[in-house]
Amino acid sequence: MNAKRVNAAAGVLHAAQVRGRVTAAGLAADLEAAGLLQSPATAAETERLRARVAELEAERHATNSALAEVTEALRAAEGRADGLAVGRPAVLEPDGCRHCGIPERGHARQWTRAAGWHAWVEPSDGQRLERMRARRAARTEAGYL
Ligand SMILES: [Zn+2]
Repeated sequence: MNAKRVNAAAGVLHAAQVRGRVTAAGLAADLEAAGLLQSPATAAETERLRARVAELEAERHATNSALAEVTEALRAAEGRADGLAVGRPAVLEPDGCRHCGIPERGHARQWTRAAGWHAWVEPSDGQRLERMRARRAARTEAGYL
C-alpha cells in the first residue's frame, strides 16, 4: 500500500462528500478528475517497467563489479596502484580521493567496489599523512633525497 496515494484519494473523496457527492459514480468521477485513477493496462505496464528497472539495476551492479575486477587486475599487472607510469613506485598523491586515490583534477566520476560511483572526496588527515610518508619513503629508496 502506498500511503501517499491513499491519502491523496482520501482527500479527494472527503472533499466530494463535503460537496454532497455520495454515489459511487460521482466519487469515481472526482477521483478521475484528480488524476488518481489509472486503467488496468497502465497499472500492468507500470509493474512490468518497475520489474525491468530492478533487473537492469542488478545487471549494472554486476557489470560494474566485473569491470572493477578487471581494472584492479590490470593495475596490479602493470605494477601500479593509480595512474602513475609503469616502473615508478605506486605512490598516491596525498590529496588524492579518499576512496580511489585519484587527484581531484581529472577525477570526474569513478567507481570502486567499496564506495560505488562517487565524485572526488577529500582524504582524511590520516590518509594524507600516510601517503606523504609513503611518497617520502619511495623517494628516499630511489635516491632522490
Ligand atoms: Zn575517487
